[in-house]
Formats: sequence, C-alpha cells, structure tokens
Amino acid sequence: MNTRRRMKRMNEGEAMGGLIGTAWGGAAGSPGFYCDKELRSPEANSARKRQPQSHHGNEQLSSEDKQEKKAFSLFLLCCCCLSSFGEWSGGFGGRKVVQHVHLEPHHIVRKRSISQPLRIKVFYDKSVYRLPPEKFEVINNTILPQALEYWERTLLVRPMVVPIRLNRKCPNNQAFFPVNVSEQHCKERCENVTTCGEVVVPEEHLEPCRVCSATGHFCTTSTPKGVGIQDADFVFYVSAMQTDRCHKGQTVAYAAHCQQEAALDRPIAGHANLCPNSISTKPQDLDTLLSTVKHEILHALGFSVSLYAYFRDKSGYPLTPRGRNGKPMVNKVIQAHQWSDRVIREVERRDWKVRGNVTQKTVKIVVTPRVQEEIRRHFNCAYLEGAELEDQGEDGTVLTHWEKRLFENEAMTGTHTQNPVYSRITLALMEDTGWYMPNYAMAQELKWGKNLGCDFAFKSCKDWIDSRRARGESIHPYCDKVKKDPLETECTDSRDSVALCNLVEYPQELPRIFQNFDYIPGVPSAEIGRYGGSVSLADYCPYIQEFTWKSNNIVVRGSQCQFPENMPQPEKNFALEYYGAGSKCFNHNKDMWEERTCQQVRQWQHWGSGCYKYECRNGHLHVIVANHTYTCFHIGQQLKIQIFFQGWLHIGTIVCPPCHEICGENDVNCQPDSVKSYYASSDKKYYYDELPCRSMCLTSNWIVVLVLLTILHHFLGR
Ligand SMILES: [Zn+2]
Repeated sequence: MNTRRRMKRMNEGEAMGGLIGTAWGGAAGSPGFYCDKELRSPEANSARKRQPQSHHGNEQLSSEDKQEKKAFSLFLLCCCCLSSFGEWSGGFGGRKVVQHVHLEPHHIVRKRSISQPLRIKVFYDKSVYRLPPEKFEVINNTILPQALEYWERTLLVRPMVVPIRLNRKCPNNQAFFPVNVSEQHCKERCENVTTCGEVVVPEEHLEPCRVCSATGHFCTTSTPKGVGIQDADFVFYVSAMQTDRCHKGQTVAYAAHCQQEAALDRPIAGHANLCPNSISTKPQDLDTLLSTVKHEILHALGFSVSLYAYFRDKSGYPLTPRGRNGKPMVNKVIQAHQWSDRVIREVERRDWKVRGNVTQKTVKIVVTPRVQEEIRRHFNCAYLEGAELEDQGEDGTVLTHWEKRLFENEAMTGTHTQNPVYSRITLALMEDTGWYMPNYAMAQELKWGKNLGCDFAFKSCKDWIDSRRARGESIHPYCDKVKKDPLETECTDSRDSVALCNLVEYPQELPRIFQNFDYIPGVPSAEIGRYGGSVSLADYCPYIQEFTWKSNNIVVRGSQCQFPENMPQPEKNFALEYYGAGSKCFNHNKDMWEERTCQQVRQWQHWGSGCYKYECRNGHLHVIVANHTYTCFHIGQQLKIQIFFQGWLHIGTIVCPPCHEICGENDVNCQPDSVKSYYASSDKKYYYDELPCRSMCLTSNWIVVLVLLTILHHFLGR
C-alpha cells in the first residue's frame, strides 16, 4: 500500500465543507457579463441497496429444524445515479447548465495523451471516524483501498498538472462570468460552506471567493485561494452517515460526481456515503461490499445518466452538440442533460414474444464505438447495435446500469445477485467517455450470455426458452424449476456455490410483458401468469442464483462453498458437505440423502447439490467427503457415499462433473475419461461403511423422519 492509498484522516478541526456542482445558465442583464442559473447538482445520485427480502414459498414445515430455515437470500443493490435539476426563476435567462471548474485551458488539456494512471485522493468526513472500530477498520484498511486501487490500476487519464480546487457554492446558485474571465463570480457573496454530497469541502480545497455586485460590476476576490489538492486527478469525499436515504430499501451506499473540470468535462470530484447500519464486516459479505464500493466509484467517475451527454470522442470533441453556454441541452423529463444518438439510441424490438402473444419493446442502447465492438464480440452477434441499458427501477437505477436480463452478474447492473464481475464492456464504456483509457487486462470474464448469439441479445427470454426447448436443448442460462419444497438445489456455472432456480410464484399475475412462459413443468396453465423470476430488473426471467439460509429472518449462512462460515451445524450436515478453501459445488443424483441409525432413518427433503473439498492430481479429479477420497474417472460417474459420521450412517450419491469444470482447462490435471470397466474395477476401492446392527435394525420399529426445511425465497430483485 502506498501513501496515496492510505486514507487521509481529517483532524477534528478540519471541517469538511461541501460544494456542489453549481449550474448556471442564461444571459445576464448587463453587457459584458453573463450569468447562468443553477440546475440542481448531481449529488447523491448513486445508491447501492440491499433490498428488503421478499418472501415466497411456504412455511408449513419443519420438524426439528425450526431454527435453521432455508432462506433464499439475495442482496440487491441498486443505484441512483440521476442528477436532478432545479428551477431557478431569477432574471438571468432560462438556460440550465452545470458550471464546471476551470483548471487548465481546453487547448492545453486536450493535446495531452491519456497516459496518467488515475490518481484518486480520498478525504473522510468526521462521520467516518465515528464508525464502530471494526467497521472503520474494514472500510479504511481493506474495502476503500482495494476499490480505489482497482480503478487506479484500471484507468488512465490525461495528466492534471495543477492542483484541483473546487468551485464555491453561490447563494441561490447565482453567479457571473465576466467576459474573458473563466472563473465564476458569485452574486454579492459566497455561501459559507460548500458541500460535495453530505461532506463539507475543506476551505483549502476551494477556489477563492470571488464576487460581483448585484449588477455584475465591481468584481473582487475576497478570500485567498486554497492550496488545492496536489497530484490528484479525482477527489473522493467519503462520509458514513445514517441518512434518510440509507433507510430506503436498506441502501448500503450511494455516490455521485459533484464537479467537473471545464476543459473536457471530466468529473474531478465525487462523494460516497456509506450507510453505517448496512456495513457488514462478516468475511462472506466483504466481496459484495468491495464490489459495491467499486460500483459506486464508477458512477462518480463516469457511468452515470447525468454524464452521458458529456461523453467525447477520441479526439476530445463532444459527442453531443452544445448550446450557446457550451453545455448540452437539458431534458426536463429525464432531469438530465440530453445526450445525442451518437451516445445512446432508442431502438424498437419487434416480435417480442410474451405469454400467448407477440408485442414490441423499446430499448435504449449505448452505441459508442468501443462498447459496440465489445458487446458484439461478447454475444457473438455482428449486427448488435450496442449495449442495452436498464429500463426499470427508480430514478438512479433506470438508464444508469446495464440491463439485468442481458448482463446478470456484471457488476454495473442495478442489483447485485452473485459473483459480480467488471467486464470489458464496462471498461469500454469508460473508454468511450473520452476521459479514460482502460487497462483491459483488469477486466473480469463475464460468462453470462457469452457467445449465445443474436437471438439471446435481441429476443425475449420466453422466445429463447421456447426455441431451445423446441430443439431439445438446455434453456441455459435460464431455468424453469419452480422454487418450492421439496427443495432441489443445483450448482452455479462457476461451481462456486450451491444455488436455486429463482422462479417463484407471485400473488398476482405479472404484467403481460413479463409473462415469460406458456408452460412450466408442474404448474397448471391457469396459474402460469403468476410465475416469474424473482429479479424484476431481469424482466422476471428466471435463472440460477445463490441463496442464504435464514433463521428468524436473520441470515445464518450463505451458499458459497469457499467460506467456512457457511458450514452447516454438524447435526444438520446430512450430505457431509464441506465449506471452506478448496471447496466446490457438486451435484447429487435424484435420490434424497438418507441418515440411518439402528433405530431410525431420516431423509432430507432438500437435496440436489452440495459443497465438497476436492483435489486435482494424477490426471483426475478427487472428491473428498468426510476425509475419504473418491476419484472421478468419467463425467456423470455416480460416487456412492456411505459413511458413518456423528452417530449416523450417511447415504447418498455425488455425481462427477466434467473434470475441467473443477480443475481448469489445463490438460495436466484432467486425463480423458477412463473406460467404464476401469472405473468399475476401481469402484470397489471406494470407502464404504455399514451399520453394526444389520439384523436388528430392519424392523417395523424404524421411524422415518422427513426433515423438511422451510425455504423463504429471498431473491434479489425489485
Ligand atoms: Zn449503481
């Protein structure tokens, strides 16, 4: 960790002040000056949330397992990245633009190459130091440094050779810009404090207070300028206040940019508020928290509906025409500057199949060159226009994220479901801002939708599911197994987690455009309209998803294999699972697992898959169950498990996956499948226990206990 990465601790006396991006517009009454009026600043325009868990499923069950109910869990995040624009009814005309900070002249900045690794300087509000020590530690020592380092290593910018000083806020956002003077001058006085989000910007970060008289004359500078922020390309103000906004939908954090520089409109300051009550320091939650903070930073750096209109081409020229004040026009309906169709285009998708009908759907698509190139490569569709934006959710979710149906676990979708990745497509969007050059080696692989072709990208999920079914093919990446008891789990594609199909029953029929099935196995046709995926942002298309187990509405454990915290209590570990480092998800066969003593048999009515330790050696995959090793010789081989453990004989089956899915594509680890005869002879060597009471226990006194675990279906989604 270098010193830059260490968070600066503010002294108590170092009050943070705050400035918001002021917005000005219109011509002033006096010749030689003009003055613009403020739109509302783009502050607080991104929020990442955990949604309240929605409950689907039944509660009737439970015998001895009352305290560990099965819960589907989801963490939903969604972000509000919309800037809103206020009205100003003063006498300076009606133009509405956001005033930027003059740091260096346009012609000088533009001729620099994009070669400087992004330098982000972080400043804490006092509220951050009031966090409980364990939360402060995880934020200060782990999450923020890692999140910042990721973007600093990923993005290059044009070097900023002067210190950043932010504009001061003017009363009623009224300011003058004397001719041939690039700095803003407030009308009569400056506000006492300038904020960026919730944070008060320190005096030393600010431009001097420059004022003119009410008529725009007698302009003076009344305070010295601050030293500014040296050696930085972006200033990030962080607070940790339990604001009203934190209570809405269990928001984890929200963020936005607050000022842009004037030469090329690049955001130079932003803020994030971390909601203290939503910060979890549990090891299994840290990946999600880190991804959330990275997500918020990216909104402040460029992925925001309030910045699309400022995107520039490779030469630094605006992609959206500018008005007389040099800014894009404002669209009052969307409360943002209106972008041109060189950035985002509206497209009709005809022949959009829904239940029993065909309709059409209007989508908004990012069509900038690098995004278009990457998205065509990702889906393997040469004529795809670009990357579709989210069309659902509140202000701050809609249009400010990738469409969840098409990008599922891409980290810049509006809700977190599992295993978030920052893909080349998101980095391409950053390149297409004109402000950054990404290091694509930092991108993570997005498997969702990869090479699935134009049909996947252009058509409804119902269309995809129907056409695949008609050809007798898997409906992957979608699923159609209704979540209900008995619960049948499966593995995620990555085999990192036990998972479930998030297809659930809703109390009412879904809107027609979200009815994605004519047929669901086991569901009467009259009820099909009530069934859909639990993630609304994914257009209710169902897919395999991680979940958590809950007890009395409190998360007990998750379903990711790598975390020891997810280990079931020994008396509930019927399938002899192992959670921890070196564990992956393996499927069971169609039979339930069983536990026996000489007096009892019990079966567990949730089954389907589990987490097990494994080894890749001698050309084969070896599954380790309760310290016994079982070798896989071919795909689909059924490993019969019969082990006496914790007073019960555990009986079940684990199915061998393709070796490379666990061991990787490296040929050294996986030899070709052995012939079955070889496997059959090896089978005898597998470990095998029997109960010591064979004759005595096969009596009618056996008690069959069906252990039914309640599942609360808590899927991400809104
Ligand atoms: Zn977001």
